[in-house]
Amino acid sequence: MRHVIIGNGAAGISAALAIRDRRPTDRIDIISDEPHRHYSRVMLTDLIAGSVSEEKVYLVGPDFYREHGLVAHLGNTVGAIEPGAKTVHLASEPPLPYDRLLLAAGAAPNALSAPSTSDARVASSTPGITAHTTQGVYTLRTLDDALRVRRRALESRTALVSGGGMVGLKVATALTRLGLAVTVVAASRRVFSQVLEASAAEVFRHLLEEAGIRILTGDEIHTLEGRGWVERAHLRSGASVACDLVIVGKGVAPRLDLARRAEIACERGVLVDEYLETNRPGIFAAGDVAEAFDPSLDGRSPHALWPLAIEQGELAGANMAGDRRPYAGGVPMNSFHWDRIAVITLGASVPRGPQDHVLSKIDARRGIVRQLVFKGNRLTGAALIGDVDGAGALRALIQTGATPPVGLMESLLDGKLRKAWARWTMARA
Ligand SMILES: Cc1cc2nc3c(=O)[nH]c(=O)nc-3n(C[C@H](O)[C@H](O)[C@H](O)COP(=O)(O)OP(=O)(O)OC[C@H]3O[C@@H](n4cnc5c(N)ncnc54)[C@H](O)[C@@H]3O)c2cc1C
Repeated sequence: MRHVIIGNGAAGISAALAIRDRRPTDRIDIISDEPHRHYSRVMLTDLIAGSVSEEKVYLVGPDFYREHGLVAHLGNTVGAIEPGAKTVHLASEPPLPYDRLLLAAGAAPNALSAPSTSDARVASSTPGITAHTTQGVYTLRTLDDALRVRRRALESRTALVSGGGMVGLKVATALTRLGLAVTVVAASRRVFSQVLEASAAEVFRHLLEEAGIRILTGDEIHTLEGRGWVERAHLRSGASVACDLVIVGKGVAPRLDLARRAEIACERGVLVDEYLETNRPGIFAAGDVAEAFDPSLDGRSPHALWPLAIEQGELAGANMAGDRRPYAGGVPMNSFHWDRIAVITLGASVPRGPQDHVLSKIDARRGIVRQLVFKGNRLTGAALIGDVDGAGALRALIQTGATPPVGLMESLLDGKLRKAWARWTMARA
């Protein structure tokens, strides 16, 4: 059997290893339009900050592909998938036939019209920004993007980050660590608006400001100006900010071009069934590109999260190799450290409708937030800052959709979870 995997990221590599475990002699081709071996996107901001070297960002050694019997086509773009002929067309190699195909093509920054680009294309294709300058404006998705940003940052004193989400805030922190004066401008009324409710976002904003980051909410870049390199951003409010570099971090969108042209069903992402197979038999999808089941929403949604890409990649690979394992859906989980402060968000962590309500416990002085979101009695999401005790139990509760009794809910909120959780799960067993 021949397996072709488009994507050398978390989903693609997890799938390749799951197939190899089950089918030691099958041919597996893995393709990436980036020239690098598999690396961690999550660590790119550490690379920018200089806290890790480029070598540490790679998650596999140079011999990994050979050792696992994978045929790697790095730096090679897939131009088209031909499902009728079960063939993938590459830009600079002969077509590859397949029996099973995985689309693990990831996502691209929203501001871009192309996945990886020169500064000029970023500025000219960023909606809503009039650019009188073209240099020093970046998005951050790839290792090459991170190396470019680091090079520019090392010769800069000021930076502007457009976007108050995960990537924007991670890069703002990295640039601050390099000694730059950093301003974040977010169109929404609060930072991290997709995952933090207002009072939690306020605590988080305070932590960022204490770290030296200037935060402007409810505003956007209108014009970038500079002679050659960017020098100043004019915002819609009329304010202006000096900046030697600009990062546009306004979310990502699944890379759907190949799927759409091959008439693979897509909505916001590539649609998959419970086995992560698309409407085209033998073609699967996983990771940022896929729109899979999310139990916290009780519906499908694309997510751009590393742990979900791994989970889905493993399962898609197992099913490509002949297993028949249904995907129970993954609760979106994001876990990172802000200096020494741990942050974990789980599931639908902001209220989305009239049935949703929030229980929270906030100690602003100590920078601690425990926020739980319920739909009726069902826990659908949580945000934990500073005290992340019991995150695993919360994730399990969101995943199963079980209704916790009142006593357990109080413990969930207090963080004194372990004993109460053990008692409850034992009582249910
Ligand atoms: C700066 C940054 C920080 C992040 N921090 C976090 C974090 O703290 N926590 C977290 O959970 N997530 C984080 N993420 C998100 C996380 O990295 C992604 O969810 C994850 O990498 C998705 O993996 P994937 O395999 O689905 O896609 P990707 O890693 O994007 O891989 C897609 C692959 O497809 C290839 N490809 C696409 N189209 C083609 C084509 N036409 N031809 C050939 N190859 C193609 C690409 O070359 C690439 O190899 C961060 C992302 C970034 C950029």
